[in-house]
Amino acid sequence: HAKAAGKNTYAIFGSHMAELLRRRSALEHDLRAAIKNREQIEVFYQPVYAAVGAELCALEALVRWNHPTFGYISPQEFIPIAEETGLIHEIGTTVLDDSCSVLFELPHITVSINASALEMQSPAYPLRILTALSEWQVKPERLEIELTESVAAGDSVQLELNIKMLRSAGVKIAIDDFGTGYSSFSRVQKFAVDRLKIDKSFVDDLDRGDSNATIAAIITMAQRKGLKVTAEGVETAEQQELLRDLGCDHLQGFLLSRPLTRGDMMALLKVRAGATA
Ligand code: C2E
Ligand code: MG
Ligand code: MG
Ligand code: MG
Repeated sequence: HAKAAGKNTYAIFGSHMAELLRRRSALEHDLRAAIKNREQIEVFYQPVYAAVGAELCALEALVRWNHPTFGYISPQEFIPIAEETGLIHEIGTTVLDDSCSVLFELPHITVSINASALEMQSPAYPLRILTALSEWQVKPERLEIELTESVAAGDSVQLELNIKMLRSAGVKIAIDDFGTGYSSFSRVQKFAVDRLKIDKSFVDDLDRGDSNATIAAIITMAQRKGLKVTAEGVETAEQQELLRDLGCDHLQGFLLSRPLTRGDMMALLKVRAGATA
């Protein structure tokens, strides 16, 4: 019996693997065309709110691939493909341009973009960012670049140089998914950044009371260094209240808003502006 079940498991696993591989090579093939004709690559915006007072302060740009047959594909699936095929730079530029146009249209808001390790280590990256900002007449201080901890912990001279150049021009740098990497606390000292984004896994653990001390320690360290703290993935009112009480500056998560199309995001901002006018 066990043997038969085992065999079946392998058969199912095998066909599932084959299907994944087929999908992967289809995506690899289709991504180049998708970037060329532009329409399939969309930028969504997730609002970020002040922890106290709940003012909408910022937007995080999150890329989406609206594939003609597979539908919306998560960046977690296609960013690695874009990195392997070198298409990541084009995707990054699309997100950058869209974000700059939002910054131009909404003068009271800041926008963050996610940079891949490959972009952040490219010698052309800082100038690409600063050129886009100046073409849109946007102050560099209004753009924040999010780097995952593993990128920030990298040992590349170019990476450090790029961060220094961008920061000295006024662009903000944030460490994304903070707390999940091997680098954590000690490596943040390596170069100055402006913000830590506490990973969703710590926010989830708040429900069991497991991560309160860790979050408190992150916030204490951040405050000592003059860094802002955002908590990501806030899904419940209990988490919102705890994070506010722990001293987080900003909150982001499905409880407050999902990532929105540009149209929905603009509509939300109009409603809010109307409500306070
Ligand atoms: P991230 O930068 O940490 O973004 C947060 C992710 O969590 C987003 O997923 C967002 O939709 C999701 N999220 C936000 N609030 C909640 C919540 O309350 N609950 C849950 N379950 N999820 C929440 P998304 O958009 O699928 O992006 C995944 C990752 O892909 C991002 O993680 C980022 O690392 C990467 N990514 C997204 N856009 C870009 C991009 O333009 N360039 C690059 N290089 N990477 C990107
Ligand atoms: Mg991010
Ligand atoms: Mg994150
Ligand atoms: Mg993430």
